[in-house]
Amino acid sequence: MSLRLDCHVHLVGDGSSGDGRAFELRTPWNRLQARFLLREAQVDAAYLDGGLDAAFEAALARHIEGSGLDGAVILAQDVPHDEAGRPLPMAGFLVPNDAVLRFCARDPARRIPAVSIHPARPDAIDELERCAALGARVLKLLPNCHAADCSHPRHAAFWAACARLRIAFLAHTGGELTLPVLRPDLEHPSVLTLPLEQGVTCIAAHGASRSLPWAKDHVADLAALCRRHPNLLVDNSALGSPIRSEAIRRLIDTCGDRIVHGSDFPVPCQPVWPFLRGHLGLSDWREVAAVANPLARDAVLKRRLGFGEASFSRLALHMGW
Ligand SMILES: [Zn+2]
Repeated sequence: MSLRLDCHVHLVGDGSSGDGRAFELRTPWNRLQARFLLREAQVDAAYLDGGLDAAFEAALARHIEGSGLDGAVILAQDVPHDEAGRPLPMAGFLVPNDAVLRFCARDPARRIPAVSIHPARPDAIDELERCAALGARVLKLLPNCHAADCSHPRHAAFWAACARLRIAFLAHTGGELTLPVLRPDLEHPSVLTLPLEQGVTCIAAHGASRSLPWAKDHVADLAALCRRHPNLLVDNSALGSPIRSEAIRRLIDTCGDRIVHGSDFPVPCQPVWPFLRGHLGLSDWREVAAVANPLARDAVLKRRLGFGEASFSRLALHMGW
């Protein structure tokens, strides 16, 4: 039996434990979003003023244990870098690789570390090798927010190292609303072309769905890319959100055999939007909404939306975990 996993779970914090985690709340809208995220995580909003690292870790550990899944991929968050590999101000939040590696080392059977390394960093391959030796199995980036032009030929050696170390690449695709976007052009799934050609198993997060009603949608292009690359998977994270939920049916119809389960915790998972779009009946809505554990609720929601049972074990099966 392959592991049933949630491939998209964020660790966040304020650095109160001394591990360098940080976040910035620049606007009242950011503060409101932060409160929604903490409410989803069942962490008291008072921790926004201090002590968030330990409080969030305790809540996340509890949710993973009670999720009904075998484990979760826990994501780090690097800072963006310019073309020359110089660090830029953080993209909303920062989670050092060592914070994720330490959190995962406390329950390695259930917590799979996903480190975050901008490929233009001068130490990118060294850091990848260091993290792989400490148990990292996934790399996470938001190419549009990190300004990571993943398919630039100068990064070929970095992707070859990923393939050699059997590190999967989880990449945000499609629009982004929560974090500052530095390179809107890099939301297109073609940003994954070079990593795919180098033999890296790539996961297009959010199925390249749009995050604003008037924005471009890349689901058809993603499906075409899937046909060309057997090593391309697609995660269904955050698809319960107001705008992304529009893409659910098309993703199931065109990429159904590549979908891997992901929640995007602590992004709120509520069945109300899929219900309003007619993807969910009233009794399903009630049953999903009644699940207290946020990771379990997202898993139940995805099954009711028609994502197959195979989506939970597809990543572990594909990677041989
Ligand atoms: Zn995410």
